[in-house]
Amino acid sequence: MKVLTEFDPWKSRLCTCKIKYSLNPYVGCYHRCIYCYARSYIKNHEKPRAKENFVDRLKRDLKYVNKGIVIISSSTDPYQPLELKYRYTRKALKLLKDFKIIILTKSNNVLRDKDLFDDNIVISFTITTLDENISKKIEPYAPSPDKRLDALKSLSDMGFKTTARIDPIIPYVNDSEKSLEELIKELKSCDVKLITSSTLKVRGDILKKMCEKFPEICNRLKKLYLNGERYQNYLYLSKSIRLKLLRTVLNICKKYNIPFATCRENLNINTSMSCDGSHLLI
Ligand code: SF4
Repeated sequence: MKVLTEFDPWKSRLCTCKIKYSLNPYVGCYHRCIYCYARSYIKNHEKPRAKENFVDRLKRDLKYVNKGIVIISSSTDPYQPLELKYRYTRKALKLLKDFKIIILTKSNNVLRDKDLFDDNIVISFTITTLDENISKKIEPYAPSPDKRLDALKSLSDMGFKTTARIDPIIPYVNDSEKSLEELIKELKSCDVKLITSSTLKVRGDILKKMCEKFPEICNRLKKLYLNGERYQNYLYLSKSIRLKLLRTVLNICKKYNIPFATCRENLNINTSMSCDGSHLLI
């Protein structure tokens, strides 16, 4: 089976990404984010493991593909603890020298590979909140927001292109204007070239997990989603609520002069040339 595949975000007709490839060196993810979409389509996602013969399979796939943009990774964190043992992400970066790369991570382990980074790479960090307590509840095993910000700043200071994802925005959890402005101000000081944001989409057991961690908002959250919209297999908030939440992020980004994009939202409010940072690679 191929390891370098066409990026296909669940065949979403709302995806605005350019054509690119996806590479996931691992199956599943250590961080156990309670909002993780990959959990609904990857068995035992909470038991991360390395892909069998990953490097040989990538070498084989590269006989048929020799250029393009590759996202590492869309359904696992390429710098989760397994990477310290297997180094598959590092080996992949060496094999993909002729490609443009978007690295998507929550881990400061990415700093280890700075010797391999150049103008053909964009490093994107997902940071949903500055609040350690909220982060511990929604991303229990991921590095703290502070560690992520420090890594982001170090990479920007070294001259690499960085972007951030405030994704997902969860009503009543990380959606206050004040906390979003504090976060975006920090991201500005890290010199990110793009902020991409998106509201929580509900699929599988996400709502159940949200209710376990935040029982005080469970009924309100359920009501919002039950009165929302359905796109393919996801429950979305209503368009008016999504617009309100994401316009808040947009307006703060405008204030701090940071290009802004949404992800799978069907809202025409982007100010960035791409939603994933691929325009930074041209
Ligand atoms: S880091 Fe990404 S892939 Fe890993 S659990 Fe969190 S949302 Fe899922």
